Amino acid sequence: MMSAPRLVIDLEKIYHNAHTLVDRLAQRGISVTGVTKAALGCTEIAATLLEAGVTRLGDSRIENIESMRICQQTAPMTLIRSPMLSQAQRVVRFADVSCNTEIDVIRRLSLEAQRAGCNHGVVLMVELGDLREGIMPDDLLGCVYETLSLPNIDFKGIGTNLACRSGVAPDARNMAMLTELAERIETTFGVRVDIVSGGNSANLQWALSGAEIGRINDLRLGEAILLGCETLHRQPLDGLHTDAITLTAEVIEAKLKPTLPSGQINQNAFGETPVVADRGQVTQAILAIGRQDTDPDGLQAAAGIEVMGGSSDHLILESEHDDLSVGSEVTFLLNYSALVRSMTSPYVTRVVMPALDQ
Ligand SMILES: *Cc1c(COP(=O)(O)O)cnc(C)c1O
Repeated sequence: MMSAPRLVIDLEKIYHNAHTLVDRLAQRGISVTGVTKAALGCTEIAATLLEAGVTRLGDSRIENIESMRICQQTAPMTLIRSPMLSQAQRVVRFADVSCNTEIDVIRRLSLEAQRAGCNHGVVLMVELGDLREGIMPDDLLGCVYETLSLPNIDFKGIGTNLACRSGVAPDARNMAMLTELAERIETTFGVRVDIVSGGNSANLQWALSGAEIGRINDLRLGEAILLGCETLHRQPLDGLHTDAITLTAEVIEAKLKPTLPSGQINQNAFGETPVVADRGQVTQAILAIGRQDTDPDGLQAAAGIEVMGGSSDHLILESEHDDLSVGSEVTFLLNYSALVRSMTSPYVTRVVMPALDQ
């Protein structure tokens, strides 16, 4: 008997998604950094991405990179979040490259790399409108100049991240700007900008649209590979699996209940005051999973089953069918928010389905 709740990770479907995207982007001259952060640096997923042809692995947490190294993963790995000063030593030890926006951090990486007797690669992230991480474009050349002067630091390239905080779409303008910055660095300093990383899953539409790619030669892809969707409108990507990872939970109560609460309505457990319409009696089921384990708003069950809400430990469903008996299981597709919360809950087990030999 498999334990519940559980995430089921289908490596064959992840392989298919990754391989398809690697192929399509290769035709545009773009390589893929396979991002493992939503899977906590899961070693099987990492190996599957590499098998499918990603050029390197990327993760936002040095802990995940460390755990992949402990599992003997020797592929090139990029820390895609700016390193904490306090983690600089671990960063140079376990990651080949890190994305950076602060010269003080790069100085510390240089110091730690000298101490460790190794070199560390640096990609400088540029702010192009989304207002999360990034050096302001006017300050980029100065930062490159300083980076180039630091011992044991290899300047690897530049990158940008869009559509994460503000939902700014990658387009001809901001992507041309990144290309122009790469070229300005090369003519100013006579160095080669190896990596020009255009962005994340939100860049796929632009990259595959036939647009002028310029110098963009890398995308960092997580969600598109794991969930099979683009991230500007969350539409399924042609030919990709959207059920490579699913979440299954168990029914602990199933009853016919009224839709209208009885009594005086105040705040619920999460400070909301629910307003409910009377729809008579419904078949209500409770699953043993809650907001501690996932994002109820990010779950999608089969047709006829609707997620009505959740508290910390209970997920409430309504069903048009009467097969949601106690002990039965319900499987959901997840959005990114539900996925990362389920992955990080200690109460949700992870079942990895082995891929067949390719
Ligand atoms: C998370 C992240 C990515 C991957 O984003 P997806 O939308 O999952 O493809 C890429 N780059 C950076 C800097 C990130 O933080």
